Amino acid sequence: MAHCIVPEADAVLDREFPVLDKGFVRLVDYLGGDERVVQAARVSYGGGTKSYREDAGLIDYLLRNRHTSPFEQVVLTFHVKLPIFVARQWVRHRTARLNEISGRYSVMGEDFYIPDPADIALQSADNKQGRSAEALEAEPAEEVRAAFAAGQERAYADYKRLIEGGIARELARINLPLSLYTEWYWQIDLHNLFHFL
Ligand SMILES: Cc1cc2nc3c(=O)[nH]c(=O)nc-3n(C[C@H](O)[C@H](O)[C@H](O)COP(=O)(O)OP(=O)(O)OC[C@H]3O[C@@H](n4cnc5c(N)ncnc54)[C@H](O)[C@@H]3O)c2cc1C
Repeated sequence: MAHCIVPEADAVLDREFPVLDKGFVRLVDYLGGDERVVQAARVSYGGGTKSYREDAGLIDYLLRNRHTSPFEQVVLTFHVKLPIFVARQWVRHRTARLNEISGRYSVMGEDFYIPDPADIALQSADNKQGRSAEALEAEPAEEVRAAFAAGQERAYADYKRLIEGGIARELARINLPLSLYTEWYWQIDLHNLFHFL
């Protein structure tokens, strides 16, 4: 059975797609594609039709009927740079494998997330988990951004001083804020990627 080449995936392989102010998502590698889903389904259903239209129809049929395991035969690995507070929510999706940069081994870079003014808003009146759809005026939004930046600079200056003073990296990092960017390799199968999305 042939190794699956997916031209659409090859076209974006290794390309960094910018996310937020300093983050990115990059497809590192993939295993399988539509063809693999169809091959896997045919193993369970036996042989059968092989035309492209019929393959597409089979994929639709599998999705419609929640015969989801053939989609688990397709695996994608992403390299993601994201703020730690986003990473905290992301890892709640447990059906994936990941390797993250270690603040115990490495000196963390000075990359912090500061929201765009358009993303700065008051607490929502009807959604306990979110913000109001209306952004703040320019001036108060800049004050919020300045407060974030000042806290980040202070925390990073302390971190740097502790590192330079020889304090263990695993300790020096503990006051760094959730807005610090982290990076990881994240691997997930297509079924669970659909769920995640
Ligand atoms: C709007 C929103 C608000 C949230 N608020 C909070 C919050 O306040 N606090 C908080 O802690 N989390 C919160 N979460 C996270 C949420 O509880 C889930 O942990 C997260 O969405 C991952 O979902 P999942 O378990 O379906 O995904 P995955 O972990 O990717 O699992 C995928 C599927 O695999 C199956 N599965 C995986 N692990 C198990 C298992 N151990 N046992 C049985 N089945 C399993 C389930 O069918 C699951 O749906 C929130 C999520 C959302 C979307």
